[in-house]
Amino acid sequence: MDRPPNLPANTADNGAPQDPLDLPVRAVRGIGPERARLLERMRILTVGDLLFVRPRRHEDRRHLLTIAKLQKGQSSTVLGKIVALGTKTFRGGTRSVFEVILTDDTARLHCRWWNMPFMERLFTVGEELLVFGKVVSERPRTIDHPETEKIDGGDERSIHVGRVAPIYPLTEGLYQRNMRGMVWAALEQFGHVIKEPELAIVPSAPPGLNTPGAWMPRQTAVRLLHFPEEPHEPELARRRLALDEFVALQWEIQRRRKNLEAKSKAFPCAGSNALIRPFLAELPFKLTDAQTRVLREIRTDLGGSVPMRRLLQGDVGTGKTVVAACAALMTLESGYNVALMAPTQILADQLATNFRRWFGSLGIEVPLLTGNRSGDRESPPTSDRPTLWIGTHALIENGFTATRLGLVIIDEQHRFGVAQREKLVKKGFYPHLLVMTATPIPRTLGLTLYGDLDLSILDQSPEGRGRIRTHVRTPDALPKVWDFIRKELAQGRQAYIVYPRIQDSEEDDVKSVTREFPRVAEALKPYRVGLLHGQLNPDEKDQVMEKFRKGSLNALVATSVIEVGIDVPNATVMLIENAEQFGLAQLHQLRGRVGRGKHASHCILVGEQKTDAAKDRLKVMAETSDGFELAEADMRLRGPGELTGRAQSGLPEFRFGDLLEDRSLVELARNLVKQRLGNMK
Ligand code: ADP
Ligand code: MG
Repeated sequence: MDRPPNLPANTADNGAPQDPLDLPVRAVRGIGPERARLLERMRILTVGDLLFVRPRRHEDRRHLLTIAKLQKGQSSTVLGKIVALGTKTFRGGTRSVFEVILTDDTARLHCRWWNMPFMERLFTVGEELLVFGKVVSERPRTIDHPETEKIDGGDERSIHVGRVAPIYPLTEGLYQRNMRGMVWAALEQFGHVIKEPELAIVPSAPPGLNTPGAWMPRQTAVRLLHFPEEPHEPELARRRLALDEFVALQWEIQRRRKNLEAKSKAFPCAGSNALIRPFLAELPFKLTDAQTRVLREIRTDLGGSVPMRRLLQGDVGTGKTVVAACAALMTLESGYNVALMAPTQILADQLATNFRRWFGSLGIEVPLLTGNRSGDRESPPTSDRPTLWIGTHALIENGFTATRLGLVIIDEQHRFGVAQREKLVKKGFYPHLLVMTATPIPRTLGLTLYGDLDLSILDQSPEGRGRIRTHVRTPDALPKVWDFIRKELAQGRQAYIVYPRIQDSEEDDVKSVTREFPRVAEALKPYRVGLLHGQLNPDEKDQVMEKFRKGSLNALVATSVIEVGIDVPNATVMLIENAEQFGLAQLHQLRGRVGRGKHASHCILVGEQKTDAAKDRLKVMAETSDGFELAEADMRLRGPGELTGRAQSGLPEFRFGDLLEDRSLVELARNLVKQRLGNMK
């Protein structure tokens, strides 16, 4: 969060007393216009900003080593006086090394900076200097490019040495010593006005909770964040401040939810079984236990008077579509309309095909609205019987207004922004909402991003599925790969071949479907190969997909348009070239297109693997088939923002909170807020 949570807004304008933490930094003794300008560059404008700056790290300077004790290979801090300095140039003046020699009466230390001749201006013989860095040699004792800090004598000295000292992020012209002094001064002057958050739900330490640090007073936390007695204390302080951030966020989320519950009514949509019973009887398989359990959860919600807000999370292939079908039938049985929204036209088509097949004999009409195609509005419902509408964004954008909308289902939610989902929901009269996603959302993210949704999990795949094996290869193995694919096709199976691009680009040689399509067709002769990408017109996409589904195309060259949802159980090979171009979550989705039938399947990842990072990612894919594990790994490799598209997800940036590490704090915050809201009736 940009500002510490729960600081009251600046109220000076309307005459109320101003929070001292909102005063400009110049209110701190010793900060004049020049320093204020430097701080402003770091977006530190107010006293509060300064107090809540997060140190980069701390350095234990209570027992400094003497220079004589320095050991090669170790990172250490030592204090010494400058006895000599100078710059040497070589290679005709194109290279230089600046050197400072320190002594502390036990030995001498050489500090060197390569090709940074301007450093010379910063030091003077006789100055006391702290240096931190890794010792590269003991004879003579040398540290290259150390961090340095000049130490003044006098009263201030105890802020900087003989203690656990904070090391801050800096900007050019601002030194550790200055920064530390300013924070110290701000604490002296304003530390005591730091208030507990308005939501003071962390009053005292309840015994037995495994959350060290969470319970210290906020004032203490801010002090220990900067100037701890012991090296472990800043982390405790950080946890306390992180908890405040998580509490503030949970408060927002849960209050919004509570408002919804208090103010809105939903249609009763639990149904009568009149349609579900024949539907399930016709279905060629039995529901899994997980599907049955989830449907029970959904039915309970649909029968209540509070609109359902539920996230159905299930890895690729766990059978979310059938769950959606049953939820839709419950609503239709109850006499209300249903809207089902998919992120791509291809997927909307597939859903419409499935649902028409499933619901046709039940007398339910399934109009499709994808907006950009001639036939779309051809068949508006012919009766006023409850109807299932299927569509893409067009459902929101083309003025879709079904009355008596009982349930909105959003498939493959990660393609929809939160704002879009709200927009659709507002169209109706507080319909129930079911959001389905195969993107496994790491638990902490789930609690923050989707904290307003109840969670149902499909944690079981239907039985009798063939196993998927993942192979990582370099491009020189391609001839063998084609042989392998031809063998699969010969046995009547089908294959996807995915490339990152539609067209070639001048900047790199990442492969494109346009260039590769003829080559693949050649390599797989005499089998029939189709081409699918986002720039084809909708009718073309339809035809290609339909042919592949029917098996009249044996292989499909495609971009990642096929990433989500596509369900062709006979396909057993997923070949992805330039696999290093895709994120883990995306690769997992693509891999999920195979292994949907009874045959064993193969996912072949061909990539350059030039960097370690690229190698690692493909290796993770080969080793892990569990979507949740992959999502955690993805979050680790790329950061949480990347994973969800932070800008559209509305996920705040935390200053102290860390979604990777703080899962227990997030859960604690959620429970604390829940309790508190529960007591507030
Ligand atoms: P996803 O969860 O990825 O959306 P789908 O709903 O597309 O998965 O289902 C994948 C495939 O599994 C479909 O072909 C579907 O008909 C089939 N399926 C769903 N539930 C079951 C079940 N209980 N038993 C057998 N097959 C099932
Ligand atoms: Mg699906």
